[in-house]
Amino acid sequence: MKSLAVLRASQLVTLAGPKRPRVGAELSELSIIRHGGMLIRDGKIEAVGSSDEIEKKAGGAEVVDVQGKVVLPGFVDAHTHAVFAGDRLDDFERRTRGETYEQIAKAGGGIWSTVQKTRAASEDDLFEQTKRHAAWFVRCGTTTVEAKSGYGLTLEDELKMLRVLRRLKDQGPLQIAPTFLGAHAVPRNMSADEYVDLVINEMLPRVASEQLAEFCDVFCERGYFNVDQSRRILCAAKELGFKLRGHVDQLTNSGGASLMAELGAMTADHLEQTDAPGIAALRAARVQPVLLPGSVYGLGSLRYPRARQMIEAGLAVVLATDFNPGSSPTPSMPMILSLACTQMKMSPAEALTASTINAAYSLGRGDQIGSLETGKLANFAVFDCSDYRELACWFGIALTDAVYIMGSKVPRR
Ligand SMILES: [Zn+2]
Repeated sequence: MKSLAVLRASQLVTLAGPKRPRVGAELSELSIIRHGGMLIRDGKIEAVGSSDEIEKKAGGAEVVDVQGKVVLPGFVDAHTHAVFAGDRLDDFERRTRGETYEQIAKAGGGIWSTVQKTRAASEDDLFEQTKRHAAWFVRCGTTTVEAKSGYGLTLEDELKMLRVLRRLKDQGPLQIAPTFLGAHAVPRNMSADEYVDLVINEMLPRVASEQLAEFCDVFCERGYFNVDQSRRILCAAKELGFKLRGHVDQLTNSGGASLMAELGAMTADHLEQTDAPGIAALRAARVQPVLLPGSVYGLGSLRYPRARQMIEAGLAVVLATDFNPGSSPTPSMPMILSLACTQMKMSPAEALTASTINAAYSLGRGDQIGSLETGKLANFAVFDCSDYRELACWFGIALTDAVYIMGSKVPRR
């Protein structure tokens, strides 16, 4: 394979540092190399340094002159619902008219409309629609996404979604960490307990035997799965070797954060309603919080998670899009950086660490991606600006200039 010499970055934002998730003041340490460069061989980073040093080592490498732009590790989006059919444009318009979630659901909208469209789609059709979403992520500078099932809610339809993810992962270039979220909602034709039995007895063993997912997730919320039902599912998943994530404390503080701490989950996601005891539980168990400000914004809510308290408590905060057709229809990590800074008072540096190296650790991939260091995969993005803070400041504009995954430039579509 070929070698690449990336030269003349105004800032090569490496995120080099301790080989673990970053906490407290470490979230602000980006290890920026001004006038930086990087040598890449066989899809991996071979050397990082000043542009002049790298140029001397370049030999016959193909030169990529980024002409004073910013180079970052590709964003790692640790919470997405990337596989779904159709859209929720009617719901969106109803919300603009002030209709409530209940009114929208009654009119045939909400998650059920996406479940129906996803069930009706063939695997090939769903694959094509998901490929479009995958291209959106890359266009925003993201090189790895976690992606969940959860709009099938039958054994076959959940497997179909996970097979789409496997095809996408095999085809590349976007890197994918698949999650089984069978317990996303309770199907209309059964009780929550009946469905929990189905998830535990039929779905989980099948997903495990076909090795279709690394993680298991649940939607722990009033009207969906309570703490006991969530615990049953996640304990069964853990027995089968899945690592755990959870949608918790989004709409009500139901003790979901404490449940994730109790189970030793990788992450507890959402946390809009999590209070000090929940934060302390996450800290004690070293569970990473995944904050999703896009869904707060998308729903027109004002209750953002307590990011500052979490950082002060020593949690290794992660930011993600929660990309989905209903509550958070954005694939853009730069938009999430903007929301993190303006609505949750994170600094641009903290937001960037939460979107790259900390997100990589939350997916069990901190040793391969999330920073630009020797030996790691050459997943990086070039942005058309000269200071990384511009990404969080100029919102609503795509500054992405080029994206490389394992050293190969992703063609613009
Ligand atoms: Zn979600």
